[in-house]
Amino acid sequence: MSVPFTTGVHRLAPETFAYVQGSRATGYSNAGLVCSGEEALLVDTLYTLDQTRQMLSAITKAVPATDICWVVNTHQDGDHWWGNQLVGDALIVSSTAAARRMREAGPETMEPFLAADTDPRLRAYLEAFDFSGITPTYPTITFTGEMELTVGSRTVRLIEVGPAHTEGDVIVHVPDAGVVYAGDILMFGGHGVIHSGPVGNCIRACDTILDLGAETVVPGHGPVGGKSEVIRVRDYLERVQAHATTAHQQGKSALEAAREFGFDEFSGFANAERVVLNIGAVYRELNGDGTPGMGPLLHQMVELKDTLEAGETA
Ligand SMILES: [Zn+2]
Repeated sequence: MSVPFTTGVHRLAPETFAYVQGSRATGYSNAGLVCSGEEALLVDTLYTLDQTRQMLSAITKAVPATDICWVVNTHQDGDHWWGNQLVGDALIVSSTAAARRMREAGPETMEPFLAADTDPRLRAYLEAFDFSGITPTYPTITFTGEMELTVGSRTVRLIEVGPAHTEGDVIVHVPDAGVVYAGDILMFGGHGVIHSGPVGNCIRACDTILDLGAETVVPGHGPVGGKSEVIRVRDYLERVQAHATTAHQQGKSALEAAREFGFDEFSGFANAERVVLNIGAVYRELNGDGTPGMGPLLHQMVELKDTLEAGETA
């Protein structure tokens, strides 16, 4: 099935939808909707109240007379839950680990990136977003491992696969539709981001998704895809792991390693500068001491972006 990469509600199967924001830039995430009768489950809210309002209004138009009873937040990143207050009547579910980290991941964490003295190249990633008015609205039901929810007459499975992209990642499987909503375990058509790791868990999460045998896979970002796109992400993660491990043995910095990454093999992937974050995640595992941290890596990311745009990589 080909689902257009355009902003709006797209039908994947009977009473099963993706809400897509047609941009590969940071902060434009996807969401999901599973309906049965008058009940609905929403997978993720969006980064800002404006984005989430736009989504909810598109859902109301596409699926009138449906009531969102459940919200599942796939993980702690703001672009997957900062709109929760707009569906405040619903029961909100996440993994226990994600709910715990959300307490430290409110919109105030954006302030350092938007400050006047912040590197403008870093600020540029977030300047388009208005974070005002957000009241962090946390999950009220949490779980570890697996959980099943009933939406009308349908069963929806939640499977915890973190720590991987973040500490508490959850994927959402809708067996009767052959659909998986993967959150940021998968970003199609671009370099993903490993905030937490280990990278081995990110690879295992891809295997878990493949083992479910779903026809349709909705990534956290990028176009809706299927099995071949999941395999491509898995290949990318294995390549990052191997490349970073060799570069680490050779005593190279994460930025040096990133400049020498085999970008040609993944030439269709947007946001190439993010590879330094993923190499940094492997370095953290190999160092075993938490370095390099995400702060320095973000600065290396904008350095790498400049280099890539100037066409100066190996
Ligand atoms: Zn995201």
